[in-house]
Amino acid sequence: MNRKKIVAANWKMNMTVAETVGFLENFRSLVDEVNGVEIVIAPPFTAIAKLSELLGGSQKIRLGAQNMSNEKSGAFTGEISATMLRELFVRYVILGHSERRQIFGESDVLVNKKVHTALASGLKPIVCVGETLEERDAGRENEVLEAQLRGSLAAVTAEQMADVVIAYEPVWAIGTGRTASPEQAQDAHAHVRTILGHLTNEATAAKVRIQYGGSVKPANAQILLSQPDIDGALVGGASLEPLPFAEIVKAGVPR
Ligand code: PEP
Repeated sequence: MNRKKIVAANWKMNMTVAETVGFLENFRSLVDEVNGVEIVIAPPFTAIAKLSELLGGSQKIRLGAQNMSNEKSGAFTGEISATMLRELFVRYVILGHSERRQIFGESDVLVNKKVHTALASGLKPIVCVGETLEERDAGRENEVLEAQLRGSLAAVTAEQMADVVIAYEPVWAIGTGRTASPEQAQDAHAHVRTILGHLTNEATAAKVRIQYGGSVKPANAQILLSQPDIDGALVGGASLEPLPFAEIVKAGVPR
């Protein structure tokens, strides 16, 4: 199955508008010749409008958001709606990142509501799943992944699944410098795809892109992205500088 790789930057609570402008200036020239990989940048909300203006509908670099409300509009102080993101030509939205789950208490039920709101609004969700170290040490990683996928993707149809990207991010590998080995990551991705097959059907599951996230760097990107079920990367720390992020993107070029 020929799945176009998707490499996304999750800037988290980093990068001012001025820093975003500087980043893009450098990054654009670094990926000018790069083809065959979908690039996504998810800046903080405050930098989305500027980035949107600078990208001007670029086909090469797509705009993402790091979170979104499940509600459409109204009295939800501090929240951002899907419509607001769409107005700025945001295409992807990261949902259920482990930091949202752990620090802000987001449950699979809430993530599922957000997934449906995103899909109904024409946004493509990047749904994050992943086990903690404790869960892996107890040999429970597959069961945890299955529960998160079933919960977060409840009532998503096979047709809608075509617009969903999954990010497998073992919590113990995020921001820790500890990466899952290519074998561990491949095993988890294959398991995720099997579950997606149960939730929809095999043909649909074969089309869904599954990103790996967790301390991806230029030095490990190539081996991770060459695994058969790894279809891209969700990158935190190494996406804050143009050069390492561009190197990771290049690791996704079809060869
Ligand atoms: C992330 O937060 O999605 C992530 C993978 O972070 P890092 O690359 O810094 O581990």
